[in-house]
Amino acid sequence: MNEWDAIIIGGGPAGLTAGLYLCRGKFRTLLIEKGSVGGYIMNVELIENYPGFPDGIPGAELGMQMKEQALRYGLEVERAEAIAVQASASRKVVTSASGSTYACKALIIAGGSRPRKLGVPGEERFWGSGVITCAFCDGGLFTDRVIAVCGGGDSGITEALYMANLASRVIVIEAKPSLTATAVLQERARANPKIEIRCSTRVTAILGDGRVTGIEVSGESGGKEVLPVDGVLVHVGLEPNTGYLAGSVPLDEGGQVQVNTWLETPVPGVFAAGDIRSGSPRQVSAAVGDGAIAAISAQRFLQRLT
Ligand SMILES: Cc1cc2nc3c(=O)[nH]c(=O)nc-3n(C[C@H](O)[C@H](O)[C@H](O)COP(=O)(O)OP(=O)(O)OC[C@H]3O[C@@H](n4cnc5c(N)ncnc54)[C@H](O)[C@@H]3O)c2cc1C
Repeated sequence: MNEWDAIIIGGGPAGLTAGLYLCRGKFRTLLIEKGSVGGYIMNVELIENYPGFPDGIPGAELGMQMKEQALRYGLEVERAEAIAVQASASRKVVTSASGSTYACKALIIAGGSRPRKLGVPGEERFWGSGVITCAFCDGGLFTDRVIAVCGGGDSGITEALYMANLASRVIVIEAKPSLTATAVLQERARANPKIEIRCSTRVTAILGDGRVTGIEVSGESGGKEVLPVDGVLVHVGLEPNTGYLAGSVPLDEGGQVQVNTWLETPVPGVFAAGDIRSGSPRQVSAAVGDGAIAAISAQRFLQRLT
């Protein structure tokens, strides 16, 4: 089995920053990524709140540049899905879905999160066709059509604004009495004539036969109504990608990895960074900061071993 000083699970902003720091410190480091190196931002049209880019920067471009910078210092990358972690103080072993094993002394968990499902009838049936989670990836399917966007937080409104460039109409459905997105995003959504906002409203079913034809919603009064739509985009919160970690590191009640301020888990030499760690504000700048902190903590741990 091949051995590294450090392994990072997840190649988003947190994992790539950690990789950059560790490689600049001359620690042999492997990054394991199951999808696109760059992480979730590869699907975000424009990042406007990452410092240093006054006009914003396309998420894919930022992700590519983070990757290039880390590779330049020698970060090794393996395309694989981590499905199990065995951790003792001196040695950690990561097992991939294909059965390969990778060993290291320090492990940084930076696997991010994924959109939570609505859990209503019809969702599973149309998942990936009429029901999507990424406007940038699949929004084109709804060009000149009507789409419902479930979720009035930052990510839901960002997706609704993107969809308004393609769709004929966008209906934002938010269960809370008001949107929770940042004020500037709310202003843009309210000013967009294609976007209709319905608060205090829940989707109770996704309807259709061969394709999505509508959603059943219930409002404040509890009365049900059917809205004709051609698709549904779901952004009602995020779930950490920690299913495979249960039993290896402590998770909080939301499934995020428990860490202290140095991003150490209670298992010596295991750290967590970015959206996946307990209390994360789930922002790129925070993930980058986490990557740096976790890498510095890992370096101190590795130096103590020698
Ligand atoms: C629609 C939307 C818009 C957003 N817009 C903004 C914005 O404008 N500004 C901002 O600051 N933030 C924004 N965010 C949040 C931002 O994308 C995240 O905070 C950031 O990507 C977190 O980085 P991360 O490295 O922790 O995780 P991620 O970027 O999620 O990266 C984690 C990586 O780990 C991989 N992975 C997961 N599990 C495994 C496994 N078992 N094995 C191998 N690989 C694994 C995943 O494939 C992924 O590539 C947005 C989020 C969404 C959903």
